[in-house]
Amino acid sequence: MARANAAYYATKDPFADFTTAPEISQVFGECLGLWAAMVWDLMGKPSPVILAEAGPGRGTLMADAMRAIGAAAPDFAAALRLHLIETSPRLRAEQATRLDATWHDDLADLPPGPMILLANEFLDALPIRQFIRHEDAWMERWVRDGAFVERPAPDAPTTGAETGTIQERGDAALAWVTALSARLATQGGAALLIDYGPATSGPGDTLQALRHGQVADALADPGAADLTAHVDFAALARATTAQGPVPQALFLARLGFLARTAALSAANPRQAPKLAMAAHRLTAPEAMGRLFKALAICHPDLPPLPGFAA
Ligand code: SAH
Repeated sequence: MARANAAYYATKDPFADFTTAPEISQVFGECLGLWAAMVWDLMGKPSPVILAEAGPGRGTLMADAMRAIGAAAPDFAAALRLHLIETSPRLRAEQATRLDATWHDDLADLPPGPMILLANEFLDALPIRQFIRHEDAWMERWVRDGAFVERPAPDAPTTGAETGTIQERGDAALAWVTALSARLATQGGAALLIDYGPATSGPGDTLQALRHGQVADALADPGAADLTAHVDFAALARATTAQGPVPQALFLARLGFLARTAALSAANPRQAPKLAMAAHRLTAPEAMGRLFKALAICHPDLPPLPGFAA
């Protein structure tokens, strides 16, 4: 359903329409960089190792992560090879101004070997399918010429539900995460996926278009607005070797996000109000702290990873 997103990301500046955690606070990417360094230790410090990111946006998260890794874990910095998965030529060019990396269109194009992968707000940009329950059957909803059309689908849900119920299915995210899990199980490593969605699966229409920070009509002018939908973390965790999901606020607190924010504020008092607001936005339950979740996909032999154990 959100297939128009490929055209959107290729031609528009998505950051005019929405903002993301790494653009809000540098501490977000720094914490994820330190997470990767700790996971590399738990993996037995393979060298070389792939550090990958899916959907790096402006490259801010990885630039912040690399700075933190360089300062805190120089041996990891020396061992890692940076690989970015990005389909938008425009965003690739922006990433290249900040990062020395190798670019790929798809997960399947990465070279083999142990890997640590990060992805923030990547899965929500992948297409979803929507089904609607009529009195006697489920139909799949499609968008054509700015309107919904409905068709029967051989693989529609099979359970009954109240007439009018909308059920979404993130088949593309599930296929992507299943392939990632299979790769990590044979070649080693772990992935950290941060996105927004409920902890338990359920019905509901979450498809949303964002334009200039405002909710827009998801059907009008495909390719002009960013289309997103909630990620079904429970379905992803069921299909893979996973840890979590845990709410973003808890995950970041366990990684020392608040202590790092306090230290940075003490060193740069003029930045303190901005850093405090950013920390609130990322961790308050009514802001991004609860709806956003962190999920780790990992090799089955890895112990509990940082942020996922109490
Ligand atoms: N992680 C960034 C950007 C999130 S926006 C941040 O947190 O700021 C989604 C990103 O995924 C963009 O970089 C977009 O171009 C990329 N993207 C969307 N669909 C993709 C796909 N199918 N394959 C690879 N990259 C994709």
